[in-house]
Amino acid sequence: MFDFIDDFQGDNAIFSQNGLYIPEATDCMRCGMCLSTCPTNKLFKTEAETPRNRLRTIDKIINGDTAVSSEELTHLNNCIQCRACETLCPSKMQYGHLFDLAREKHFQEGVPERRGNLFSVIGFKLIEHKPLLHAGTVLIRLYQKTGLQFLFRKTGLLKAFKLDKAESLMPEAETSSLAGRYPTDKQRRGNVALFTGCVSDHFDRKTLLASIKLLNVIGFDVLVPKEQVCCGAIHRHQGKKTVADKMAATNIDVFNSLDIEAIIYTASGCGLMLNEYEQDNGENAGEQKSFGSGLHDITEFLNLHWQDDIRLKDFDPKAGDETLKTVAVHEPCSQRIAAHGHGNRHQHVYELLEKIPGLTVIPLPENHICCGAGGVHMLTHPEIADPLRNEKLAHFDQSGADLLVSTNIGCALHLNTGQALNKVVHPVVLLAEKLT
Ligand code: SF4
Ligand code: SF4
Repeated sequence: MFDFIDDFQGDNAIFSQNGLYIPEATDCMRCGMCLSTCPTNKLFKTEAETPRNRLRTIDKIINGDTAVSSEELTHLNNCIQCRACETLCPSKMQYGHLFDLAREKHFQEGVPERRGNLFSVIGFKLIEHKPLLHAGTVLIRLYQKTGLQFLFRKTGLLKAFKLDKAESLMPEAETSSLAGRYPTDKQRRGNVALFTGCVSDHFDRKTLLASIKLLNVIGFDVLVPKEQVCCGAIHRHQGKKTVADKMAATNIDVFNSLDIEAIIYTASGCGLMLNEYEQDNGENAGEQKSFGSGLHDITEFLNLHWQDDIRLKDFDPKAGDETLKTVAVHEPCSQRIAAHGHGNRHQHVYELLEKIPGLTVIPLPENHICCGAGGVHMLTHPEIADPLRNEKLAHFDQSGADLLVSTNIGCALHLNTGQALNKVVHPVVLLAEKLT
């Protein structure tokens, strides 16, 4: 099947003379090796909920020669797009890419793909238009800080508009914007730019501030370009390729025009998308459509540039630290996928946290199974997302850990609902708190 392959790069990237080779949906051997990693198959224990069955449906959609039943479409749409199936596949199936192609085709044909609700309609518009998102954040803050939140929850209005789930995920909104530059007061080693994407600036400020603090400590000035936009992942996975391509082009123009040593992202879900911005091999060959080698996960970059003389506080019982002895690491699927020749990155989280004196760092059991967040999937398919989340939280309880860390904002929001409220943080938040 792969006679023409010149080179194998990374865990699942295959390159021929014409660039990245992407197997077709029919290249699936139906061997079943991926079944043990598929969360929906684990949950429903049926062949209909397997990657190989979905690939058959994807093939029908892409090739368009056989009709797809509504049942097949339902099982396809149950997919969380975690791409765990790619990590074990001997045929190197690029499942995520094929899924996006099928979605794109259906979007162009006007086939409704997901269970939409008012939130997803508003959410897509806010993400596409940053000024609207900023205005929306001000309204959300007003809602959270006045009696409106209590009123809406009490009267059942949220439920009536199917907004209850989305509302329960929303952390306190930050209405101000980050500054454009944060200079270091250490010996300066250069500039880096921070990718904040769409919602992190307003809903995960503490992770961004912790990242800036740590990057300053290792000697870098941090730039936060205001013109940057969403990475485009949510739109791409919904088949909205034109919007996603436009977002990618804007980000590439914005970041590649800066005089910087690196582009740093904090959310691994965005990071995966940024890593997959493509180098054009077609008629625009040579045109820069990717970030090249300058893109880094924050945990990876901090490990690379950490200096041994940086002092971190030991546990301080007076500050309540005696309760924090063990941290469990949730490994988001987006950090475990070795996409486009880039190795997976979850090992950087362990390496970073092990710098904290006296802290025990353990993996959350069953990290190879998705938590169910999957971008908007947790909102559109709670009957799948919630049991998967509850299983993670049960593992967390049994692990005896005091805190759970995750590098993906979507997973953290999803896991922070239920009994784990406020027990899931980004690892850099923990590290920044320990700076002396
Ligand atoms: S491991 Fe790959 S080839 Fe085998 S069934 Fe899964 S997708 Fe198909
Ligand atoms: S992407 Fe995840 S949920 Fe979808 S088929 Fe693959 S393993 Fe299963």
